[in-house]
Amino acid sequence: MAQNAEVLGDRPAPGRLEGLRMLLNTDDRFHGFDRLDDLERLPLFLLHYGVLFEGETLTRRDVAALRTFRDALRGFLVEPDEEAAAALNAVSQAYPLVVRVAAGGTSSLQRCAPGEAGDRVIARQIETLHRAIEDGRWTRMGRCGREDCQWIFYDSSRNRSARWCSADPCGDVMKTRAWRERQRAR
Ligand SMILES: [Zn+2]
Repeated sequence: MAQNAEVLGDRPAPGRLEGLRMLLNTDDRFHGFDRLDDLERLPLFLLHYGVLFEGETLTRRDVAALRTFRDALRGFLVEPDEEAAAALNAVSQAYPLVVRVAAGGTSSLQRCAPGEAGDRVIARQIETLHRAIEDGRWTRMGRCGREDCQWIFYDSSRNRSARWCSADPCGDVMKTRAWRERQRAR
């Protein structure tokens, strides 16, 4: 994640999970705007949150694949039932991960994605998802309870009691976010 990443009292997620969270938030329900439709500004946004790496570019096909993955993942986050799991698994199987062990007794997860930037991006996100599920952080990801917001947030509170995307009414946060967006657009 870039050093000057905006957080805005957004309840950001730790480490790479923040990239996954912001990928989910490209589906911006509050503004009725899908960042994946804005191919011009999308790369900067994804770079900013460490989803895309420097030097990687996305084709239209990549963005379509990213949307399929995002929507399946969002469905799984909101309602992790068998149907949602199957839908996400159906997408994920195109981006296999392989465990490699090394001398000395260590192991690592390696991506075997076909190699285009979009494939690598999705494979990395799946790896991040796997690690977050394993270490329990995934259970702290939630969707704002306000119907017209639905922003995905990370609940770092001790008792996991957060229901909204912000400690304040999320409307204030959203207003600030909208203002920042307008500034950035200039
Ligand atoms: Zn909210």
